[in-house]
Amino acid sequence: MAARTDRSAPVTATDPGGAPVGTLAGVGPALVATLAKLGLERVQDLWFHLPLRYEDRTRVTAIADLRAGERAQVEGVVEAVERGFRYRPQLKVAISDDSRQTLLLRFFHFSRAQAEQLQSGTRLLCYGEVRHGAQGLEMVHPNYQRLSGEVAASVDELLTPVYPTTEGLGPKRLARVIGKALERLPSDAQLELIPPALRAAHGLDSLRDALLYVHRPPPDAPMSQLLLGRHPAQQRLAFEELLTQHLSLKRMRAAVRQRRAPVLGGPGELRRQLLAGLPFELTSAQQRVGDEVARDLALPQPMLRLVQGDVGSGKTVVAALAALAAVEAGYQVALMAPTELLAEQHLTNFRQWLEPLGVEVEWLAGKVTGKARKLALARVAAGAAVVIGTHALMQEGVAFARLGLVIVDEQHRFGVQQRLALHDKGRHDNLVPHQLVLTATPIPRTLAMSVYADLDVSSIDELPPGRTPVQTVAISNARRAEVIERIHVACGEGRQVYWVCTLIEESEQLRAQAAEVAHAELSATLAGFEVGLIHGRMKSKEKQVVMDAFKSGELAVLVATTVIEVGVDVPNASLMVIENSERLGLAQLHQLRGRVGRGAVASNCVLLYQPPLGQLARERLQVMRDTNDGFRIAEKDLELRGPGEVLGTRQTGQLAFRIADLARDAHLLAAVQMVGERMLADHPRQASQLIERWVGGAARYADA
Ligand code: ADP
Ligand code: MG
Repeated sequence: MAARTDRSAPVTATDPGGAPVGTLAGVGPALVATLAKLGLERVQDLWFHLPLRYEDRTRVTAIADLRAGERAQVEGVVEAVERGFRYRPQLKVAISDDSRQTLLLRFFHFSRAQAEQLQSGTRLLCYGEVRHGAQGLEMVHPNYQRLSGEVAASVDELLTPVYPTTEGLGPKRLARVIGKALERLPSDAQLELIPPALRAAHGLDSLRDALLYVHRPPPDAPMSQLLLGRHPAQQRLAFEELLTQHLSLKRMRAAVRQRRAPVLGGPGELRRQLLAGLPFELTSAQQRVGDEVARDLALPQPMLRLVQGDVGSGKTVVAALAALAAVEAGYQVALMAPTELLAEQHLTNFRQWLEPLGVEVEWLAGKVTGKARKLALARVAAGAAVVIGTHALMQEGVAFARLGLVIVDEQHRFGVQQRLALHDKGRHDNLVPHQLVLTATPIPRTLAMSVYADLDVSSIDELPPGRTPVQTVAISNARRAEVIERIHVACGEGRQVYWVCTLIEESEQLRAQAAEVAHAELSATLAGFEVGLIHGRMKSKEKQVVMDAFKSGELAVLVATTVIEVGVDVPNASLMVIENSERLGLAQLHQLRGRVGRGAVASNCVLLYQPPLGQLARERLQVMRDTNDGFRIAEKDLELRGPGEVLGTRQTGQLAFRIADLARDAHLLAAVQMVGERMLADHPRQASQLIERWVGGAARYADA
C-alpha cells in the first residue's frame, strides 16, 4: 500500500525518531515486544502515541457531590467489606467521607492480598467512574491507593494523561517510556514535515511544543479546554492527523487510478429501452447523477463514485442504468447489499426492469445452497449479466467471467480497505472493475470530504415529484390505546400501517419475541383487519410471503422489527408507529420513517416513547418532528453522536483517530484539504513521511 515505506531503512543520525524503542534506557526485549503489540516500534511512534483523554486527579470530590456518569477522585474510610460469591466472586467495599455519605466500590477481579488490605478503617484515595448501582452510587474497579495514618492525600498537580495501552503494560510504565522518548524530540526544523510556507499560511504553530504540551500539560493548563480537546496544542495535532488521513486516502485513490478498467460506453440502446418502459420520468437530479456515472464508466480508469441521496430519492434506477451500460458493453455486474432483505428487494426491482430487456439476473445470497448454488455459480462463471447478493458475494470465491462493474449498496458498513479489496477480487485481463457505491443516509459534507476523499461524490438532492412530507408526532406510551384507536380509523380508510418494534437487545430472538407480543396485542384490538408479522428470525421465503401480502393490500398492518429499516417499498403504506423510538439514533429513525410518504397520500409517523425522556432522546425526537430533510438530520446526528456512530464504521477502525474528532474539528477540514493538495503536488516526499509517521505504525499493528 502507498502508506508503507521500507521499515528496515537504516536509522540515520539526523532521524532520532527512527531509532528502535529498544534504544531507550530501561526498555528491554520484553518491553519491546509488548510495545510492538501497540504498533510502537520506533521512538517517533511513542511521540505520536497520544493520550486518549486526561484524568483530573488534581482535586478530591466529596461523596455527597458525586454525580453518575462523571469520573472523579474521592477520599474516604472503609466502613464495611463484603465478599460475595453468588454469581461470581465479588468484593464490595463501602467507604464514607466527611460529607457523611457512602460510596460502594465493587471489584470482580481481585487477589486475596487485595481483599485483606481493604479492611474497615483503611483510608483510600480512589479514582473512577461513578454510576448508579442497586444500593446507590458506586464505582466499579476504581483505581485506588491506600493512605497511611493521618497524612492528607496528596493530589496530583497535573492532569494525568491516559494512554491507550495493552495487557501487561501498566499506565505508569507506558507514561515513563513515552517521557524517555520525548527527551529525544529534535528541534522544530527537524521535526516538521509540513513546509514552512504552508504552516505560516494556515497559522500552524510549533509541532514540537504541541507534542510536549499534550503529553505533559503544565500546572496552569486550562483544564476544561484540554478535557474537551479544544486546546490549540490538541488542535495543532488534530490538524496534522486529519491531513495525514486525507493524504493517505488521496494516495490510495491515485494508486487505483493508475490501473485500467474496461471502457463501458455504448450507444445506450438498453438504457433507452429501460427508460421507455418506466412508469415515471427521471428527476433532473437522477438524470444529472446518471450522466456523471455514465461519463466515468466510459473512461479506461476505474470509476470510484459514491452516490448519495436521501431515502426514497431513487438511487436504484440510477444503479440499474449503470448496470445496463456494463451489460451492453459485454461485461458483468455484481450488486451487493448489506442485508438479505435489501438484496431481495433489489433482485425484485432488477428482474422487473431488466428481464424484459433480455438481461439475465442471477441471485446468489448466502441462503442459496447445495445444487442450486452450484448451478448459480456455473451461470456466473459462464457470464450471467447481473449477479445480486449480499456483501458476502465477493468473499465466497465466486468466479466471474468478465466483471466490469461492482455496485455496493453500503449503508455505511464498508471501509476503505474493503472497497479496495473489491478491485483485486474482480480483476481479470489486468482490468479492474468500476465501482459505484450507494449510501442510504446522506453524509454531511464535512464528513464526505474527509472520509470519502478516495471517492467522487454525486448527490441526488431532489425527491421524485408528488411526495408529501411525512407529519411526525411524538406521543407517550401512556397514550398507547389512543394510538391504536387511530390505527383502527386509518385502516378503515384503506390506509396501510407499519408498527415497528425497536427493542435494542443483542439477540434477534428477544427482538422477535417483542414483535410477537405487539402482533398479538394488535391482532386482538384491530378486529376486522389482517395484521402481519415480520422479523429477522424468519426464513427469507416466509418474509417474502409476508411482504407480498402487505404489498398486495391483503394485510392492513405489518408489525416488524427494524429488518424493514432498509429497502422496503410499499407506496400505499402511509402510517408508521415506532415503539420505544427514544432508543433509536437519528439515522435509523430517518431510515424507518422513509418507508412511508412514498405515495401521493399524506403520511404520518408516530414516535411512541417511554417516559421519562433523557436530554439526548428529547433532542432527537424534536429533530424528527422538525424536519424530513435527511441532510439536516445527518448534520444533527453528527453533532449529537459523533462520526463513528454516524458512519457505522466503529469496528472497521477506519475512523480510529488518535486525537482528531470529525464532529469537533470539522472547521479544520477546509484548510486540511488545501494543505493536502499543495503537499501532494509540490512536496510528495514529505507527504509520504507524514503518512508513515501517523499511519505506518498503525498499519503494521493492523497487519499483525
Ligand atoms: P432509494 O434512493 O431510497 O433507494 P428507491 O430507488 O427505492 O429509493 O426509490 C424509491 C421509490 O421511488 C421506488 O418506488 C421507485 O420506483 C420510485 N421512483 C424512483 N425514481 C422515481 C421518479 N423519478 N419518479 C417517481 N418515482 C420514482
Ligand atoms: Mg435503496
